[in-house]
Formats: sequence, structure tokens, C-alpha cells
Amino acid sequence: MTASTGQIIRSHGRRFIVEADGRTYDCTTRGKRVDFACGDFVDILIQNQEQAVIERSRERSSLLYRQDDWKAKVIAANVSRILFVIAAVPSPNEELLGRCLIAAEAGDIEPVIVVNKCDLPETPALLAKLQLYVKLGYQLVTLSAKQDFSPLLPLLQGHTSVLVGQSGMGKSTLTNALLPDANARIGDISIALDSGRHTTTHAALYHLDESSHLIDSPGLQEFGLKHLQAADLIHYFPEMRQYIGQCRFHNCTHRVEPNCAIMAAAETGAISRHRLDLLQRLTQDLAPVRL
Ligand code: GDP
Ligand code: ZN
Repeated sequence: MTASTGQIIRSHGRRFIVEADGRTYDCTTRGKRVDFACGDFVDILIQNQEQAVIERSRERSSLLYRQDDWKAKVIAANVSRILFVIAAVPSPNEELLGRCLIAAEAGDIEPVIVVNKCDLPETPALLAKLQLYVKLGYQLVTLSAKQDFSPLLPLLQGHTSVLVGQSGMGKSTLTNALLPDANARIGDISIALDSGRHTTTHAALYHLDESSHLIDSPGLQEFGLKHLQAADLIHYFPEMRQYIGQCRFHNCTHRVEPNCAIMAAAETGAISRHRLDLLQRLTQDLAPVRL
């Protein structure tokens, strides 16, 4: 058996497709280990021309988790750019955007807000609402996936990107525009397991050019935040970082305590009420359960 190193370009539950030395291998893992994800660089042991075993993953620059009711599941590794797709129609959910920005900040990944369907007359009102995020320093690009998606291209250069957003915002339309040659788009791929059952693909990595890649994960609405600690949340709100250490209580939850610097800043308008609400909801969601 020969050893090599490659990258996971598809994950299907416990099976992974790894690209190495210009070939693809259908890989299993040792024992019950399944904590690998699309985008991971892995050391493999090649068994034959088609099959290999994943030995270990190399250090990851980032990890993204899928939203799950009770635990964080890794969905993609080594992503350097999150594209949050939003449009004026259907009615956009701003909470989802806020949560996605938290996941990006926590993962040290640069987010871009992609305002799609700019051909619709409702778009200026959405753009006005999103100015809040531009003021916070987030990048925003406006385009129409149907008419002209070229404004997105420079933002993809040199990055491994992932598209996320509410259903109906145009993620599939954008993906199809970016990957016109991918005749087997991921929604259509399923592989047979040894048991005879089929499993669907969770994520696939496509090469846009030599240095730019797109990880497609159909149905990805938002990233899980369950791996985060409530006490760390404030670090992921850029406008709140300056108040760290200024609350009266060092373990302030910024919800009910007197002399809370964050709530005081929201009173004066220095922090938007909307963002404080998000912080408070997430703090409650992530608070450790006390028995
Ligand atoms: P997804 O659920 O996020 O993958 O969204 P889809 O790509 O399936 O798009 C949802 C709907 O929006 C479809 O009917 C698309 O044709 C439409 N759509 C996508 N991009 C645009 C756009 O730029 N302008 C307009 N007007 N409609 C779009
Ligand atoms: Zn506080």
C-alpha cells in the first residue's frame, strides 16, 4: 500500500471521496472515526486504483458546523470565505444573517453579504436595512444571479468559498452559474453503501480555477453555533468588543445585570437594539444547563 496526501472533495456520511495525485479515491476511515469533512487535507493509504483509507487529517485553517438540534456536526473544513446570500424576496430573515456573521467571526472566516435579485424593485429597501452591517465593516456585493453574477467573481479569487442562506434566495441559481460544467451536481449524487443502502452527499468541493474553490452543500441555511461558549459571544460582535471588561460583573450576561456596558451602549444608540437582542437570545441559547 502507498501513502499519499489529498483533499476530501465529497462527504457522504462515513464515506469520503479524496482527490490525490490527480485521481479520486473512494475512502473509508479507520474504526468509527468520521470527524472528517469536505475540504479536509488528509493522509491516505492507497489500497488500489479506486480505494484508499483515510489515516488522519492535516491541521485545519477553519471548521464550519451544520445547524443541528443538539450537537455540532462538522460540515466543511478549510473554508476561507462565507457568502451569505440574501434577497428582498422571499421575505429575508435577518436573524439568520446575524447568526451567520457570528459563525464567520468565530471561525475567523471572512463573510461577504451577497444581495441577490437586484433586478427586483424591492432591493433598495433591503439594501437600506443592510447598511447596518456595512457600517460594522462587512463586505456587501449586489448582483443578479439570473442576469449578471460577475460582481462575485473577484471575491472568490484565491478562496475556498461556501454559499449559505435561506431557501429561495438563489443559492442553487448562483452555484449553477458558477459551475456550468459540473454535470453531476451534488443534489443528484448518491452512492451505494456496502449494505446496499444509498446515502446522499452532504457537501462537495468544486474547483473554479487553480486557486479558487466552491464547497456546495445543498440546503445549507445556517451554521451551527452550539460549539461556542455563551461567555465568548461578545467577541464575535465587532461593535461590542470595545466594551469587553467594562460591565460591573465580570461574568455579566448582558441581559439583566445592573451597570452593563453593552446595555448602556444600546440605550445611547451606539449599539443597535437589534444586535443586542441577537446577543441576548444567543446567550440564552448557549447558556450551560444548570441542574
Ligand atoms: P435557493 O433555494 O437559495 O437555492 O434558491 P434558488 O436558486 O432555487 O432560487 C429561488 C428562486 O429565485 C428561483 O425561482 C430562481 O429562479 C429565482 N432567482 C434566483 N436568482 C434570481 C435573480 O437574480 N433575480 C430574480 N428575479 N430571481 C432569481
Ligand atoms: Zn454586560
